[in-house]
Amino acid sequence: MKLLVPTNWDPDLILPLSRLEADVQLYGVLPTSMIGSGGRGPDNIHMVENQAEGYIEQAHSAGLKFDYILNAPSMGNMEWDENTHQELLEHLRWITSIGVDSVTVTIPYLIELIKRQFPHLKVRVSTIAHVNSVARAKLVESLGADSITLDINVNRDFTLLKAIRSAVNCELTILLNNLCLYQCPYEYYHHDTLGHASQSYNPINGYYEDYCVLRCTLDRLYDISQIIKCRWVRPEDIHVYEEIGIDVFKTSGRSMSAERILNAATAYSLRHYQGSLYDIWNVITPKIGVSNSDLPSVQNKVIGPPPRFYIDNQALEGFIDFFKKQNCLSGCSHCDYCQRIANKVIQFDRDEVDEYIAMLTASLDNLSSSRMFKVKAGVRKHLH
Ligand code: SF4
Ligand code: SF4
Repeated sequence: MKLLVPTNWDPDLILPLSRLEADVQLYGVLPTSMIGSGGRGPDNIHMVENQAEGYIEQAHSAGLKFDYILNAPSMGNMEWDENTHQELLEHLRWITSIGVDSVTVTIPYLIELIKRQFPHLKVRVSTIAHVNSVARAKLVESLGADSITLDINVNRDFTLLKAIRSAVNCELTILLNNLCLYQCPYEYYHHDTLGHASQSYNPINGYYEDYCVLRCTLDRLYDISQIIKCRWVRPEDIHVYEEIGIDVFKTSGRSMSAERILNAATAYSLRHYQGSLYDIWNVITPKIGVSNSDLPSVQNKVIGPPPRFYIDNQALEGFIDFFKKQNCLSGCSHCDYCQRIANKVIQFDRDEVDEYIAMLTASLDNLSSSRMFKVKAGVRKHLH
């Protein structure tokens, strides 16, 4: 099994990952870059440029390849500014010089640029590019992509997965432990905010409000069937995707602790997990005011991790079979499958959840009423 595993740049991850029963490849990125990353923001990563080379060398010595993430959905047109464009090329030269094996991108132009000017780099297309149809997969492959990470929303659409597999020759990857809402309406905006926040030339030093995560966390807590609708994959169901011809399996969670990253990678490499699936998922903690600079101390306020759910993995045996005949894209208003499963396999503390909902609601109220600028007078001063 080929397993793509995130790194938070902790050196202690390397050796245990190299010992798993899988062909493991690491992926990661520094807090800010020319292109930026559309995954979790820069505030969670602590690593500086001149240490990256040593880390990649260590990974190579342990037999692990390294993929560098450059998957912001947009550079705000700065790729067409001559000076920024030169810096972009310089950044790609640096990536090459530190021994990176492949890069993951979202912007189609970058696929062509990298294949033309840095042909030794393998190019993976990010899940953020939303490759969710045969037509899109074929067009992206024709730009030169060596590998496509499919849109997570198609993870349980087996007719489509089979059709994409037979339409393209490039490597296909799926994400395994992501807790994003099925058909998340905030997704495009969220990736855009994260991408701009992690770009080195961002005019407000990467500052943003975590509106999207506040909102999606609240949606899951209000309606726990949303947790089941999310397109995660059980370790026990990997074989279903292998039979279709999916080549690579990717865990997410660059901002998770090394222990949690390792726990998830181990479960998927063993194709088995005894206990609560929640413990191997990439659960994101909402924040208030996120920045990659030294803005006033009201920044980076963590609300606290969401309430812990117990998701009985053993009770989910056979869960995936329903999706082999269900069209979720059109069937969700008259289907109660996910609600019934939620009632059966999820346990949680009602009081804890209600308390957390109240906290998130108050934070969202600050945003929708624009009161955050009063609360954060220091930030306002910085912005004007
Ligand atoms: S579910 Fe949440 S974290 Fe995932 S894309 Fe939507 S807003 Fe972002
Ligand atoms: S259509 Fe049914 S199985 Fe599919 S996401 Fe909706 S409730 Fe779940």
